[in-house]
Amino acid sequence: MSKNAAKKNPDGFTENDIRPDDIMKKQHAVMMADIDYILKSKADFIQVNCPACDQDNSDRAFQKYTLDYRQCKECETLYINPRPTEDQLADFYKNSQNYDFWNKHIFPATEDARRENIFKPRAVKVQEICDRLGLKPKKLVEVGAGFGTFCEEILKLDFIEEVIAVEPTPSLSETCRKKGLTVVESPIEKADFEPGSVDLICSFEVLEHLFSPSDFIEKCGAIMKPGGLAIITNPNGKGFDVVVSPEHSGTVDVEHLNYFHPGSMKVLFERHGFEVLEVMTPGKLDAELVRKMFLSGKIKQEENPFLYQILVENWDQDGDAFQDFLAENNLSSHMWTIARKK
Ligand SMILES: [Zn+2]
Repeated sequence: MSKNAAKKNPDGFTENDIRPDDIMKKQHAVMMADIDYILKSKADFIQVNCPACDQDNSDRAFQKYTLDYRQCKECETLYINPRPTEDQLADFYKNSQNYDFWNKHIFPATEDARRENIFKPRAVKVQEICDRLGLKPKKLVEVGAGFGTFCEEILKLDFIEEVIAVEPTPSLSETCRKKGLTVVESPIEKADFEPGSVDLICSFEVLEHLFSPSDFIEKCGAIMKPGGLAIITNPNGKGFDVVVSPEHSGTVDVEHLNYFHPGSMKVLFERHGFEVLEVMTPGKLDAELVRKMFLSGKIKQEENPFLYQILVENWDQDGDAFQDFLAENNLSSHMWTIARKK
């Protein structure tokens, strides 16, 4: 295999299958327009405490897009502060060119690959987790259902009686309804569920976008039955690409306000009456993402000869083992947390 060829991971998919390079170039332009849009209202951004431990004790970690990314000195969560208000965020997502582009171009062009490589394995994994932890869920709520693909796939597995898609974005909730799903078109914080009625909540790549993750987890706890499970994925602020180069990491962007890590997910959940059972980082693409930073010249060989050796010179031989090492040691940026409502 040539050094420039995309590496196949053990599941046989590459980053290019779910984020094709040519489309991603156009996406970069609309993303920059979005960044300009949100930065126009920067004067009205507000200060918040740490999204995990709620303390006001942080250092500036770095700046990107002129925004301050701070790290909590108590629990090491990374977060944008000051940040857009809830109203500014609602306006941003309503007017986002980037989201419109994803809905119109990237999701349709990649839905098959995403279904096979992301959503089917995700549904199987959720079923395995429930089996392993002895939960026979009757009612699942997916918060941030997007295109509805996960709900479709978990319904096919036929082990849950009721599946509800919570999705606040009108065009996406419309897509979910067209797929025949039960939809609540609202943010979860404002959704009308009977307290203690849900035994499984899943939410994938949502928490990092929220003004208040604390309000989100609190509401999840309020509608859950004791003993129910919350299964949440979000980027790990101590993940490989974030730590190696926040400047070039796609994980670090203006939409991602909160970068928890395995320890601080525990802090967040425990404040709201949950017990964290497991945190894992089963990512597959971290090494490839940083390898691309070297191949494109964003990181120079001389800046990190050790990583260059693993990710470029010895890629064919060592790439898979290195990625496995990251995943097994909670060093991937793709993080899963499983918490039980007490
Ligand atoms: Zn903190």
